[in-house]
Amino acid sequence: MKRLAIWGLCVAAGLWGSAVSSGGFESLAVDGRAGLERAASFRAEFSASPAPQSLKQRIDRLVEGRYAHVRPIYEDFHRFPELSKEEKRTSSRMAAELVALNFAVTERVGGYGVVSVLKNGEGPTVLVRADMDALPIQEETKLPYQSQVPGVMHACGHDVHMSVQLGAAYVLSQLQDSWQGTLVMVSQPAEESGIGAMEMIRDGLFVRFPKPDFALAMHVSSLLAGQLGYRPGYAYSAMDNFNITLVGRGGHGARPDLTIDPFMMMAELIHKLQAIRGREIDPQQPAVISLGRVQGGNKHNIIPDSVRLEGTIRSYDDKVRDYLKERVKEAVEGVAAINRAPSPQIEFIQGTPSVYNDPALALRLAPVFQEALGPSHVSEVPPVMQSEDFTYYGREGNMPALIFWIGAQPHLNAPVPPAHSSRFAPDFKPTWSAGVKAMSAAVISLMPRTARGS
Ligand SMILES: [Zn+2]
Ligand SMILES: [Zn+2]
Repeated sequence: MKRLAIWGLCVAAGLWGSAVSSGGFESLAVDGRAGLERAASFRAEFSASPAPQSLKQRIDRLVEGRYAHVRPIYEDFHRFPELSKEEKRTSSRMAAELVALNFAVTERVGGYGVVSVLKNGEGPTVLVRADMDALPIQEETKLPYQSQVPGVMHACGHDVHMSVQLGAAYVLSQLQDSWQGTLVMVSQPAEESGIGAMEMIRDGLFVRFPKPDFALAMHVSSLLAGQLGYRPGYAYSAMDNFNITLVGRGGHGARPDLTIDPFMMMAELIHKLQAIRGREIDPQQPAVISLGRVQGGNKHNIIPDSVRLEGTIRSYDDKVRDYLKERVKEAVEGVAAINRAPSPQIEFIQGTPSVYNDPALALRLAPVFQEALGPSHVSEVPPVMQSEDFTYYGREGNMPALIFWIGAQPHLNAPVPPAHSSRFAPDFKPTWSAGVKAMSAAVISLMPRTARGS
């Protein structure tokens, strides 16, 4: 037992030695009794309440040292992007990297999803999610590692997210004396199509694997590279797309009295849709109905049989979301009825609900982010009107969840291409470093050591 204890001390001393540049603690392992006592007191102090400064130094050093390993993996992901539900090559690379870090890895969870578990004693379970899919965009960045796949590009930074997950997995696997609990790394397919998270959950994510107490994720953003933004409460909106076909009765443009003109119905409908948002929803409630496509007709003098409309609804509150969908449907049916037209066709495409960042979790982690990155690098930011299927982890797993943003822009002097642009080019190193530091520190703070020693 004694030898084991001494071995433990030597390991602790070694970790400290590697983390502290000028302390000379490396010699503790071979020093005499005084050295061991010093090591014991440092270790006890660290185990009881980790000195934040020292933990930060250890994380910073591990991140710096790991960059050379992750950078080529990032470039490889960027060169060979895969669309939603086709992440075969990407997911097997993620799995191989996590196996090498001694995670228990399961592939093919809900499509190409990968679940990687690292158990480190009794304690909370924390889920960290990274998405893996790319977009159907022809890249125009001219980067040396630009996409080799025609018409497919990592234009939403999911290659950065995977690289951050691998970086955090490495840091946390090296710092197991700083946390206890179970770490669940989720590498998720098909975020862009909004279905990947749900498919993993339906395939038993919360049943076949340790059930998380918290879920975390990060997404690149238009902040300056290395800056972190967080939002307590609603962070991403719900998204509901709709396709509507108004059916009239076609005829000659010179005899509209013999037709049911679907253009007239469409004009009434467009007006009514904006009135729903503008006159039926509390002005303090964010919500928008926008139309993206109106299509119909062939020629100057023919009133067509039907007109098609495509649009999107964005909202945060679940009740507002349900109300808007219900009222859009009623407006379409109402316009058809008052024009004595045949039944319209209304199709809502399965959208994602809003993302709600647990406020208590956000407040708990804000100082952790500030400690990890420096207070001037962390700010509270407004929510966005995009959507994110990260919402399903918190909703379906009934746990506090938080997604935060890491800036990826090289400068803010002039407009830089945003995510989903063919010229989107994150400034990788500062973005990745900040992402790994923030994620690692957040996980450690959620899984504190509870007992002295191990
Ligand atoms: Zn995206
Ligand atoms: Zn994205």
